[in-house]
Amino acid sequence: MEKGHVAIVGGGVAGVTAALALGTLGVRVTLFEKGASLVGGPPFCHLHAGGNLYREISDDQCVALLRQSVEFARLYPFVVDRRPTVIAVPTRDEGSPEALLPRLALLRDEYAKLVAADPANEVLGPPEGYFRLFDEAKLRELAERPLASSPPENAEAWMVPAAKRLDVSKVKFPLILVQEYGLNMFRLAAGAKLALEAMEEVDLRLETSVTGIEPAHGGYRLAWRGRGGESGICEADYLINAAGFLTGSIDDMLGIREKRMVEFKAAYTSLWRDRERFWPEVIFHGKRGTPRGMGQFTPYAGGYVQLHGMTKEITLFENGLAASTEESSQPRLPETFLEWIEKGWPEEVICERTRRAIDFLAYFIPGFAEAEVGGPPLFGAQQIPGDDPELRVAEVAFPRARYARCEIVKVSSATDMARAIASDLAAEGLCDAAKPPATLPALEALEEAAVAKEAARIALSRGYPEAMASLNVG
Ligand SMILES: Cc1cc2nc3c(=O)[nH]c(=O)nc-3n(C[C@H](O)[C@H](O)[C@H](O)COP(=O)(O)OP(=O)(O)OC[C@H]3O[C@@H](n4cnc5c(N)ncnc54)[C@H](O)[C@@H]3O)c2cc1C
Repeated sequence: MEKGHVAIVGGGVAGVTAALALGTLGVRVTLFEKGASLVGGPPFCHLHAGGNLYREISDDQCVALLRQSVEFARLYPFVVDRRPTVIAVPTRDEGSPEALLPRLALLRDEYAKLVAADPANEVLGPPEGYFRLFDEAKLRELAERPLASSPPENAEAWMVPAAKRLDVSKVKFPLILVQEYGLNMFRLAAGAKLALEAMEEVDLRLETSVTGIEPAHGGYRLAWRGRGGESGICEADYLINAAGFLTGSIDDMLGIREKRMVEFKAAYTSLWRDRERFWPEVIFHGKRGTPRGMGQFTPYAGGYVQLHGMTKEITLFENGLAASTEESSQPRLPETFLEWIEKGWPEEVICERTRRAIDFLAYFIPGFAEAEVGGPPLFGAQQIPGDDPELRVAEVAFPRARYARCEIVKVSSATDMARAIASDLAAEGLCDAAKPPATLPALEALEEAAVAKEAARIALSRGYPEAMASLNVG
């Protein structure tokens, strides 16, 4: 059967995962990305393997995030920072750690089922160790233990730095350590670029914007323009809209009206020179959007720590959430945020917000007050289909024949998304196999040295410290 030609607009996690999966199935792909490198949109640092950061979402969404995260970690193993996450409920918060336990038990059982179904799914350690509880007495005992000089091999060893540094009066017990790992976006950007460049089926067009689309010959005709001013037309049998927060602008080109939101958010780059080498991520629960919103302390290599604080003064922004209108499927963010996305942030805003983020986390980890601004923030606008801003699991829709619209809210949803697109292409007779494999040869063939070098280059080219391109625990 003759294979189809697929045009993908957008080279974020959604676009590159689709390109890798379809290219592997022998489909001819042209991937357009207006930026100079791939995966340069909103950041990601956390593999939500169970969604335990979100008390407010349903068990079903958590179980879906777990399964998708296991698949994502199998697909992109070189991106996973294998350090667990500590979940703490602050004393000032209304919630209790006990209330979190039924869901954790459910997730542990679901993970055990995934591993029983396929041993290769055991990417988060043994299922019985999916989570561990630590009472105050145990934490005090751990605080006296020496620090690990190599990556800790068990849950207790992972807790030692937190035990030494946390202000125990600020958190409720037990603390929970869960096998939710980290992700490194620079390594994904690097690996995807190297793998896609090596695939004959994929034509990768960086620095190329899609400026217009119209239906043609049962497929689509795309007009594109390169950064140097060159332009052209691309005819494709099938269109994938993976334009991230600009998804609505592609819908608008096609005259499709759809409800969606976009949210501008930021995490901050700090440097804690005195930091112990192997920290888990630590999250402090809190009610989103209030001055006591969730805090997220995410360790990178070299003493760098990425920070979230779910308050309007730190990660969230006044007028940062915009919705589509009757006239346009593309929500309109305030000009300031669009300008920051294109050109970067003013230095004084970086300093002010990063300092606030440091102080926010230092409330729980007093020694962290010594940290300093470590680099630019990690920021961007995130698309949310529909009108529920709490939605955390979404993949892809097919609003019209031969048109797939990707709207992932978490990066791990990209595997389900790619599978659904392959199946739709097969139904259209444009692809032989309906299911991409769990691991892709082009990613498996990557050489570590090449990924590390390219990831460092990308981090530096975007103004981030080189150390942030490395895994803390590979
Ligand atoms: C502060 C913050 C923290 C986050 N943390 C996490 C996390 O820890 N874990 C997690 O799973 N998720 C996280 N997310 C969400 C995650 O970043 C997004 O879900 C994900 O990056 C979306 O990927 P995407 O490929 O859909 O979109 P994008 O990465 O935005 O990619 C879309 C691409 O399309 C390109 N494009 C748009 N229009 C055109 C055009 N006309 N022509 C050519 N190219 C075009 C853009 O340049 C862009 O590169 C976070 C989001 C934010 C804002």
